[in-house]
Amino acid sequence: MARTDAVVLGAGIVGTSVALHLARRGMSVALVDRGSVGEQTSYGNAGIIEGNTIFPPAFPSGVDSLVRIALKRASEANYHLSFLPRVLPWLLAFRQASRPARLVETARLIRPLFSRAVAEHETLMAEAGAKHYLRKTGWLKVYRGEKSFAALAPEFDLAAKFGLPLQALDPAGAHALEPSLHPVFAHAVFWPEAASVSNPLGVTRAYAARFAALGGVVLSGDARSLHRTGSRWRVETDEGALDAAECVVALGPWSSDLLATLGLRLPLAVKRGYHRHFRAQGNASLARPVLDAEAGYLVTPMEQGIRITTGAEFAARDAAPSPAQFDWIMPRARELFPIGERADEKTWLGSRPCLPDSRPVIGRAPGHPGLWLAVGHAHWGLTLGPATGRMLAEMMTDVPPFCDPAPYRAERFS
Ligand SMILES: Cc1cc2nc3c(=O)[nH]c(=O)nc-3n(C[C@H](O)[C@H](O)[C@H](O)COP(=O)(O)OP(=O)(O)OC[C@H]3O[C@@H](n4cnc5c(N)ncnc54)[C@H](O)[C@@H]3O)c2cc1C
Repeated sequence: MARTDAVVLGAGIVGTSVALHLARRGMSVALVDRGSVGEQTSYGNAGIIEGNTIFPPAFPSGVDSLVRIALKRASEANYHLSFLPRVLPWLLAFRQASRPARLVETARLIRPLFSRAVAEHETLMAEAGAKHYLRKTGWLKVYRGEKSFAALAPEFDLAAKFGLPLQALDPAGAHALEPSLHPVFAHAVFWPEAASVSNPLGVTRAYAARFAALGGVVLSGDARSLHRTGSRWRVETDEGALDAAECVVALGPWSSDLLATLGLRLPLAVKRGYHRHFRAQGNASLARPVLDAEAGYLVTPMEQGIRITTGAEFAARDAAPSPAQFDWIMPRARELFPIGERADEKTWLGSRPCLPDSRPVIGRAPGHPGLWLAVGHAHWGLTLGPATGRMLAEMMTDVPPFCDPAPYRAERFS
């Protein structure tokens, strides 16, 4: 029987960052995954470290948006009809949390954690030799219509209150930043304090390698074997059973599979999303991610090519892929940027693990001594992985956390 101080279940960007932070504090740690490090949700995201996040994505407020989504004519959201009854309670809670006053409250609650997002990555990247993945070039959002741009006023107000810089640009201003963009939009907003990475998988692997260099071990095993034995937690791995006083659940969209067996219920749903890689035509290039706001997709320069990622799809996590959103997105993406040939054959599908109030759960699992949760990072798992890792490691080692953990307590769903 092997023993360790802590076992972290799930080697996505969140679990790997937690494991690395624990190892940096001198704990003996095992990171357990049934697959390879960083190859699930954390592989295929848009690569943005969204330290500038103010409002989370909200339930559509306009009838026109709802009708477009219902008629499956919206590029920003799709759904499987058969799945709607199952996800309805979650959608109602999400709609409730999307009321304007609640969004402002959420923005205030999450700011301290998000404000550390880029700096916490930089610390880990410097140690892990991963700085070459980091681009501190901000991100650009383009708006084709006046209405969508005018709707940003509350966000601009809060940005000013939070001291977050932004630049509202006309097409010429955007063109100066990104000369390959075609001026099919009326307005753009540049958020200089966001950063991005050219290879999210490379970043997670580099953090895992640093974890191993500090004495951490990465093991293969099924997290669903976790059970209590005396005062410790035990998980079965390919190397045999492993006991630990502390256990962290960081299983992303699979977290509920384990938590349900322990009698822990979180309102965790998934917003599925897809990506495809393309070559750029000629010498066209991008220096940063670009969001085509009304069309609901992102274009990000990656090592593999230009990565186009989709918005949300409400469907069962394990349902077959249905990348219909690309039919809508591609004509708009080709209008915006000179997209060339496909750079890969496969369409990637991932599932954002989402709680209805758009805040992750980071902290103790209620009623389970020694069990900790780092789940539900939704649109911001890459962004918040290292900040989450630091906060949780501080809590687990009885150091006052760098930011108030109260907004992230699981008990808010009790
Ligand atoms: C299209 C798209 C675009 C996105 N863009 C961004 C972005 O630009 N910026 C950003 O910050 N975020 C973005 N996200 C969100 C981000 O990717 C996720 O929040 C993040 O990857 C979640 O990380 P995680 O570590 O919680 O989960 P995962 O990366 O899914 O890791 C969970 C791990 O648990 C393991 N696991 C599951 N079940 C078991 C089991 N039974 N036993 C053992 N191991 C198990 C899996 O193998 C996996 O390695 C995007 C997501 C999508 C889908």
